[in-house]
Amino acid sequence: MANQRTTASNPLWHPFADMGAVDGDRLVLTRGSGSYVWDVDGTRYLDATAALWYANLGHGREEIATAVAGQLRELDAYGIFGYYANEPALDLAGRLAALAPAPEYKVFLGSGGGDAIDTAVKVVRAHFAQRGRPERVHVIGRTQAYHGTHGFGTAVGGIPANGTGFGPLPGDVSHVPHDSADALDAEIRRVGPDRVAAFFCEPVIGAGGVLPPPDGYVEAVAETCRAHGVLFVADCVIAGFGRLGTWLGIDRWDVRPDLVTLAKGITGGAVPLGALLVAPQVAEPFFTGEPGAPVLRHGPTYAGHPAACAAALAALDLYEREGLVPRGRELEKPLADALSGLADHPLVADVRAGLGFLAGVDLAPDVLADDPAAPARWQRACRDEGVLVRPLGRGIAVSPPLVAGEPELDLLASALPRALDRLA
Ligand code: PLP
Repeated sequence: MANQRTTASNPLWHPFADMGAVDGDRLVLTRGSGSYVWDVDGTRYLDATAALWYANLGHGREEIATAVAGQLRELDAYGIFGYYANEPALDLAGRLAALAPAPEYKVFLGSGGGDAIDTAVKVVRAHFAQRGRPERVHVIGRTQAYHGTHGFGTAVGGIPANGTGFGPLPGDVSHVPHDSADALDAEIRRVGPDRVAAFFCEPVIGAGGVLPPPDGYVEAVAETCRAHGVLFVADCVIAGFGRLGTWLGIDRWDVRPDLVTLAKGITGGAVPLGALLVAPQVAEPFFTGEPGAPVLRHGPTYAGHPAACAAALAALDLYEREGLVPRGRELEKPLADALSGLADHPLVADVRAGLGFLAGVDLAPDVLADDPAAPARWQRACRDEGVLVRPLGRGIAVSPPLVAGEPELDLLASALPRALDRLA
């Protein structure tokens, strides 16, 4: 029998993949340790994307494996549906609430970033409905932002290709240019402040191109939201857990979001888990302290899964013990330095690095005009150089694990331009 793991006959449907191209060129990974992963043939690769922006702690973390295995032996199921709870979920809620922008935030747990986003949309709309403002449903997102692939997240996300071909998406959603704080104010006024529920803001846009906000942008949009009574939702699914050098990511700026979505690095990526932090004044209608309070009829099966929560608790311990959260900031200049050589490459238009441990490199417009698949070809050439990067619309992204150091940055500095030379 043919090896079904690598041949075209395997039924596995890969997300966001050209299945015609994947078949026959699958990269089947079998092992990971620190900043590196190995494929089925034993070839080693630098994981320069921390998987999909989430293996922040590096691979093969014994402490997380031990915590998850121990929890599975103790209590392997039962999340937090209805009045059920488990100890890891309660502990994790306490730990996450302590990271929140202010005291008394509530913590809603789920399965990943996309459901944290959809939960956020429902929570803001339910909040206003409970406050007697059911017409306040409109949600504003930013162009190029990515908020996952669930219904609301697809609609609020600002990458047009991700929202087309599926028929009508949830309505009462609009977008503003990602780099203009004034545009948000204008859009709230256009829709009518009394109809706008929330503004969703990925502080550094990730999948949409690694686009840091202009100076003053985050503070300005937070203030605009405050002035109009619009809830400010910070999508920190990528930004959190050290990627921007702080716990939440949004706490790089002096703002107080009403809701914060978290996922990815929250477990070091070992087990899927997402979380939503909700400011007390937003959650208040649902926390009356009396039986008969309004019920938020929402939540996935795996909300508060004990094994996922155990993984997150072990991950939080590792971030703390190894000082990996501030390391995201310490590494931002070394990463920018490592990629600085690319700026002079004739095929490169732009290198964006220096805010957090992530970077985006755009190819020149004529390269993209000649071959829109050039980012994917560059990614493939990097793979041949032993480095895994992420292709984006106009180039590639890198976001290595926070345990990466000089050898890994040196490898990036040499492999990326070498791979690019092969595109010419
Ligand atoms: N929000 C942001 C900023 C993301 O980058 C992602 C995923 O990449 C999501 C939300 C969705 O998270 P998930 O893929 O876990 O559903």
